[in-house]
Amino acid sequence: MSLAEITQRIRAAEAAHGRAPGAAQLIAVSKVQPLDRVVAVLEAGHRLFGENYVQEAAGKWPDLRARFSGVAVHMIGPLQTNKAKLALELFDAIHSVDRPSLAEKLARLVQERGSCPELFVQVNTGAEPQKAGVLPGDLDAFIAAARAMDLPVGGLMCIPPEGQDATPHFKALSEMATRNGLHGLSMGMSSDFEAAIAHGATHVRVGSAIFGARSYA
Ligand SMILES: *Cc1c(COP(=O)(O)O)cnc(C)c1O
Repeated sequence: MSLAEITQRIRAAEAAHGRAPGAAQLIAVSKVQPLDRVVAVLEAGHRLFGENYVQEAAGKWPDLRARFSGVAVHMIGPLQTNKAKLALELFDAIHSVDRPSLAEKLARLVQERGSCPELFVQVNTGAEPQKAGVLPGDLDAFIAAARAMDLPVGGLMCIPPEGQDATPHFKALSEMATRNGLHGLSMGMSSDFEAAIAHGATHVRVGSAIFGARSYA
């Protein structure tokens, strides 16, 4: 599928669910994709990208930002505490604030820098043992603690369990955001972004549908 087709489907989903045009931003997830595919999407005019690995992003985006203006890159993968400082230098948003130790580290670094990227708290909506994210039952206290540290949380992010209907997870995430006074909702991937938009997604993270299958070889 092309970038234009995905964009068209996003606009159609917004219209179908009473959302304003552009209410759901498309994050083109470029992790492990060959550089020529990423450049092609930049040349097509897209400017918002998602990456999962700090080192990979560090090797790619400083150059691309120099070649193309107005680029924004969001961190959507797990973030090690010892890479938090580099992440603040590289990314315009972090979607994976998923544990107290990381929140504390980010709060300290943000105080030093005097600026903060957009932050999303990752919620483990399926309470899957192997998955990162704050458990739903711990979320309100986690957000309160972040705010007490002057760490501005802007939204929530989830990755629903594989092989399940994602809709209940999108609904639950939306309710958690409303309850905590948060606007941002990072949810929906290649296979389910339209359902996520129906439930209020402000950011959909689409990789393979734009770039083709990822090869980790
Ligand atoms: C890789 C990834 C995506 C994109 O997945 P696709 O199925 O290729 O659209 C979205 N979100 C996160 C957190 C990812 O790691």
